[in-house]
Amino acid sequence: MKKHLEILLVEDSQTQALKFKLMLENHGYHVAMAKNGLEAMNMLLNRQVSIVITDWMMPEMDGSELCQAIRRHDFGNYVYIILLTAKDSKNDIIEGLEAGADDYLTKPVDDAELIARLMTAERIITLESSLKQRNKEIALLSITDPLTRVFNRGYLNENLPKAFKRAQRYYTPLSIMITDIDHFKKVNDQFGHQIGDMVLKSFVDCLSRALRKDLDWMARYGGEEFIIVLPETALSGAKAAAERFRRLVSEIKTETDQGVIQITASFGIAAVGNESRSENLTADHLISAADQSLYRAKESGRNRTIGTLL
Ligand code: GH3
Ligand code: MG
Ligand code: MG
Ligand code: MG
Repeated sequence: MKKHLEILLVEDSQTQALKFKLMLENHGYHVAMAKNGLEAMNMLLNRQVSIVITDWMMPEMDGSELCQAIRRHDFGNYVYIILLTAKDSKNDIIEGLEAGADDYLTKPVDDAELIARLMTAERIITLESSLKQRNKEIALLSITDPLTRVFNRGYLNENLPKAFKRAQRYYTPLSIMITDIDHFKKVNDQFGHQIGDMVLKSFVDCLSRALRKDLDWMARYGGEEFIIVLPETALSGAKAAAERFRRLVSEIKTETDQGVIQITASFGIAAVGNESRSENLTADHLISAADQSLYRAKESGRNRTIGTLL
């Protein structure tokens, strides 16, 4: 038998509840039961249920109030509500739908009809969750660089200023580094752009693995230039990290059909310490200082790290 979603059945009459439960279970549904709206809300808060079938007239919290309570709350998933009511006047139906019910059936309920309505419920829930999943994927794509899979420039533009403001507000240090592969044009010229891409990816993978997880992050700033953001890190810590990264990069061996390729990279660091509280400083100042450090690192021979405190 097809595996169905779990249903929460809210019904104050025990006889009716048991009758529904049995019928639904015979159709392959797993059924949890609550005696009134309050009990149902407590159960919804503690487990993930997507379908609620609720009676209208109940003590404590009736069906209409339950619909409203469910709609006020964000459960993270859509809760599809079918209201069961003895009332069948047009006004009651409107009231139920306005309270947030998706569908209604009037008692006595025809079993086949309820099962058919549940099929609609499952279709809508499946649709809603695949849309939500797709939206998540799109949101992630919109901040990701397609080649290297790290954050893109858009994410950097939005989040570096935030990190900077946090550092200013809480008087914590913040460091960034700009890293750029040395003589990368030669790799492209000698081996072609596709192999250049492979080398670029192994460069980024190596750095991503070396970052402090869930704390530091990196974004593609330009061609083969990346910005690494190190929150709560003073210049000395950032220098030590950059040296570690520089050494790791020089040890990468990218295996290609044209042999093993090795690269080096230069790192320009800029930091604001917990003393750098100037209101006039912005994330842009940090970037240009890191850029100047990078320029000096390149000028003084490449494969090195240089840092500046703002
Ligand atoms: P330098 O040591 O001064 O940095 O020398 P460089 O040759 O690396 O010079 P620069 O950083 O100015 O040039 C970057 C080169 O990187 C130019 C461009 O062809 C290449 N590049 C940028 N983005 C990509 C990419 O996505 N894939 C590949 N294969 N190459 C890229
Ligand atoms: Mg009742
Ligand atoms: Mg370069
Ligand atoms: Mg460059």
